Amino acid sequence: MSISFFDTSIEFLKGVGPAKAKLLKSELNITTFGDLLNHFPFRYIDRSRFFTIAEANPDMPYIQLKVQVTGITTVGAKRTKRLVARIKDDTGSMELVWFQGVKWMGDYVKPGGYYVVFGKPSLFNGKLNIVHPEMEIITQESPVISTGLQAVYNTTEKLRPRGLDSRGLWRLMRTMLSQMPAALPETMSENLITKFKLHPLRDALFSVHMPSDFEVLQKAQFRLKFEELFYLQLRLFDQKRTRTEKYKGHKFSVVGNFFNTFYTTRLPFELTGAQKRVIKEIRADMGSGLQMNRMLQGDVGSGKTLVALMCMLIALDNSTQACLMVPTEILASQHFETISQLVSDMGIEVALLTGSTKSAKRKDILSQAADGTLHILIGTHALLEAVVQFDNLGLVIIDEQHRFGVEQRSRLWEKNNMVPHVLVMTATPIPRTLAMTLYGDLDVSVIDEMPPGRKPIQTIHRYEKARIAVFDFLRKEIALGRQVYIVYPLIEESEKMDYNDLMAGFESISRSFPLPQYQVSIVHGRMKAADKEYEMQRFGTGQTHIMVATTVIEVGVNVPNASIMLIESAERFGLSQMHQLRGRVGRGHEQSYCILMTSNKLTNESRERLATMVRTNDGFEIAEADLRLRGPGDLMGTQQSGMLDLRIADLSTDARILQTARIAAEEVITADPLLASKANAPLNRKLKHIWDKKGDWSKIS
Ligand code: ADP
Ligand code: MG
Repeated sequence: MSISFFDTSIEFLKGVGPAKAKLLKSELNITTFGDLLNHFPFRYIDRSRFFTIAEANPDMPYIQLKVQVTGITTVGAKRTKRLVARIKDDTGSMELVWFQGVKWMGDYVKPGGYYVVFGKPSLFNGKLNIVHPEMEIITQESPVISTGLQAVYNTTEKLRPRGLDSRGLWRLMRTMLSQMPAALPETMSENLITKFKLHPLRDALFSVHMPSDFEVLQKAQFRLKFEELFYLQLRLFDQKRTRTEKYKGHKFSVVGNFFNTFYTTRLPFELTGAQKRVIKEIRADMGSGLQMNRMLQGDVGSGKTLVALMCMLIALDNSTQACLMVPTEILASQHFETISQLVSDMGIEVALLTGSTKSAKRKDILSQAADGTLHILIGTHALLEAVVQFDNLGLVIIDEQHRFGVEQRSRLWEKNNMVPHVLVMTATPIPRTLAMTLYGDLDVSVIDEMPPGRKPIQTIHRYEKARIAVFDFLRKEIALGRQVYIVYPLIEESEKMDYNDLMAGFESISRSFPLPQYQVSIVHGRMKAADKEYEMQRFGTGQTHIMVATTVIEVGVNVPNASIMLIESAERFGLSQMHQLRGRVGRGHEQSYCILMTSNKLTNESRERLATMVRTNDGFEIAEADLRLRGPGDLMGTQQSGMLDLRIADLSTDARILQTARIAAEEVITADPLLASKANAPLNRKLKHIWDKKGDWSKIS
């Protein structure tokens, strides 16, 4: 019955019709009443206040004026064609300009008519105007309405000229709200409504679109944000529950020879307290009989590789195989080197499989993986191919997991009858809100302690004009026996330009650091894997002094003697990326430096990013700043997650609501895992609805 109100096709709303319905679908993905109701305002204008033209100035945000139009003209032709309206009130006059929707506006706005104008004042050629204001005619029949808060909606260039600007959408909303049935089925349970003092659904929807004041608006927003985040978390807990039910896990009950021998005779250094704790957590998890799905977080350089290896040894002790997947070939071969060396002569077979593994070698590896003679397989995306089969895969570890898509990761699950344990590792500290959302169904271990003896890296921001001094500094450091990374941006859209920048940079560096005194390496994405490796190896063994590279160097590479990371055009890098790059140095005992070179012209946002880098080495602080500056959508490939298409909640500002909602969801699921009780019926109904829409997520790791 009333459910059908939300599911009613938008076409049947008065004022819409087939043509507009089509547009609403293609532009905003709105097909039903419910979709439109969920198109929440992105801000509100205080309509209780009118300004005068004399008061208007370009520093003001959105304002509203009550004016008379004194003249209207079309200026220019074709692409420069625009509509200009002159307006006046008792205090002065100014112009309004439209570049789009010229025809529609031209018909709507008549000289002599009175209008309410909404828009942002700006300066053009020294004169005040408003570009693309919204207009509402004032007549006897339609006097100025509403003195409360006016919702502002996102709309598009195609919708605006069709009368579906923000005001137009608001009018549709108003019509729809007036038809909303008096009794809407609640989507939250009575318990939750009482406990969290939630506004009833109907009131909340009403007030979020037509708030009478800020207080009511806040209550409405709280209810809707809470609901959105609550269901997101409920889904995660539900998913975890189904997964645990569906998949049994290997029970690693012994800690045997491999682990013990390594621990007592091979460990190159004392483990940090954090490493010990994390290994314990993982061991307990893998011994529980349930499949492990755990995320290991630890800042760059905190020693995750060793933890990974020791966990793999536990898998081997329990007669299973292990694999380690990483995002780049350089990283894969580096892990392969490190691990092979650490376990040499222990009777452990380790192999490396990447896109450039030669076919004979490849065949060997595949057959050894399949017959079980291979113990540890390290590799890139190549591991995902169907031909890679194991005899008995017990543990899958994914390093820098955010580089892989959800779907890719889940493919590793299918390599075995019994699902393997899964450990995903990340050096990108994730703000708590994001972690709870993206990985809310994973258990989390954190390495929050650095190996001893590290000196904090000094970070310095320098403008282009200081280049000579910077290069002198590099020469001094190199004379002391240190090595230097110089990194250039690589952004896919302009790959060619970036490549040219890199090559020009390489040449100029080769001139500033001439042979034979200075040896310069270069590594970039267009090189063959073997060449990259050769150069990496020359740098790794200290044969070259400077490594010029693109961000391929970003993840994982470990050269403890390198003490300077110079980032060129640092203003073009994101915060997390710069932090990752910085993590390439500071791995030895020497004082290390990160130098951020930029041009003189910086946007405020780049300035803030650079200042954050200079201020702190703390990965979590940087991640929080990144979230604040860029919003969650742009962070580390989260786009693919789909978990983040939030309609009303905002992870950068609603951390507390998220926390509350998560606890509430966990309590509900713990008390009633199947949501079978009568009290939870509304939750059960809505969760089903969500699953039907979103599909199965149970294999996300
Ligand atoms: P990440 O967490 O960034 O992957 P790595 O595993 O590459 O860090 O470790 C960084 C460096 O720290 C390596 O050179 C490694 O050998 C060293 N390391 C790891 N654990 C310890 C420890 N407990 N004590 C001293 N050095 C350690
Ligand atoms: Mg690493």
